[in-house]
Amino acid sequence: MDVAYDWNKLRPPSKLKDFEAKWSRRSEPLEFSGVWRFRELFPFANDSDILTIGEGQTLCQRSDYVAKYTGMNASRVFLQYEGMNPSGSFKDNGMTGAFAHARMVGARRAACASTGNTSASLSIYCAASDLRAIIFIGSGKISYGKLAQALDHGALTVQIAGDFDDALARVQQVSKQLGIYLVNSINPFRLEGQKTIMYRVLEAFNWEVPDWILVPGGNLGNSSAFGKAFIELMELGLINRCPRIAVINAAGADTFYQLYERQNLRWQGGRYEQTLVDSYMRGLDASNARADTIASAIEINRPVNLPKGLRTLERCGGVVREVTDQEILDAKAKIAAGGLGCEPASAASVAGLKKLRAEGIIGADERVACILTGHQLKDPTATVAYHSADPKMFEETLGKRGVRRANYANRAVQVPNDLDEIIKAIDVYA
Ligand SMILES: *Cc1c(COP(=O)(O)O)cnc(C)c1O
Repeated sequence: MDVAYDWNKLRPPSKLKDFEAKWSRRSEPLEFSGVWRFRELFPFANDSDILTIGEGQTLCQRSDYVAKYTGMNASRVFLQYEGMNPSGSFKDNGMTGAFAHARMVGARRAACASTGNTSASLSIYCAASDLRAIIFIGSGKISYGKLAQALDHGALTVQIAGDFDDALARVQQVSKQLGIYLVNSINPFRLEGQKTIMYRVLEAFNWEVPDWILVPGGNLGNSSAFGKAFIELMELGLINRCPRIAVINAAGADTFYQLYERQNLRWQGGRYEQTLVDSYMRGLDASNARADTIASAIEINRPVNLPKGLRTLERCGGVVREVTDQEILDAKAKIAAGGLGCEPASAASVAGLKKLRAEGIIGADERVACILTGHQLKDPTATVAYHSADPKMFEETLGKRGVRRANYANRAVQVPNDLDEIIKAIDVYA
């Protein structure tokens, strides 16, 4: 399902620059919101149905440090940091959209399956209103940072024996049977909110279209929303070209990469080859293949937004790449050393940039925005294991996933509790 607008009956903005003026009215919550201040571009809700908690106040930061790491020229690489959202990930952009729709239809309960961030986001919106949150998680697959949020915000947390793909299948059955509002990214109103990530990137580029957007691909909600945002802006004559979009899978969860790059699955104006998808999924079943990556937020083998993701690739000259956990964690360490902390899944965008630059697909002088989808503190385990000097911890968390060495590790220095020794150590290392 897709949300479509009859622009002839609505009043779309005549130029994007006008959105900048809204900042002067930031004492009004809907103008403060980095999502709803763009609501003329997704006018499905009445203002009275909208709940904002200050989502979308994000930064698109130039990073010459990451440019250097990825082989790009200085001043060409920007990091769109979505970790600044109230729940610490981009999910709030979409959740506020779905939440508005849930209130429009009078929902009392809302549910989702989640690798962690969707449930954290749903939990916080429910806690800020009178809806009850019900979250489904796979066992042992959720990072403590994210689980802590759901528990703290009072969500009913249902942990099922299975992984994310299992949890998603179940939550769909349960929601249907019990009449619970479902907020997984199959929900088209979430994608409407997520379009604003691209409006904010455009704003940061002074409304000039960058050459590339790089985004991690999990359920392909962002990939779908970004394409829809640009397609609509083109239709409205507000931009004159789409940026190219690169979707980056983790190698341990690379369905989109396999289907698009290896099996040549194409959107074809909506007539994509469903049989190709079906047979790929049957293959996963037959071999009992399970998604496996340190980037838990994209540890998904059956992306629900696959068709819309294909539409984005066709309309925005897209490519898909896969990156290993080694590449993801090294990129994450570099992003952090350059001044922005993100969780592993987010770093796939930068690892993908490095790869596409090395392939020559992205030119060193092109202007790119990498989306950093979630905050560093979401998954401290991965970070500590990477930097740890403890071989056991490294092996249990990363080594078993094929990470050979932490190329940019910043190890803690062990010193005796002795002033001279401490001073000596500091002189050596800093
Ligand atoms: C959900 C999530 C993703 C995956 O996004 P999709 O829209 O499902 O492709 C990536 N990174 C983080 C941090 C996430 O929470």
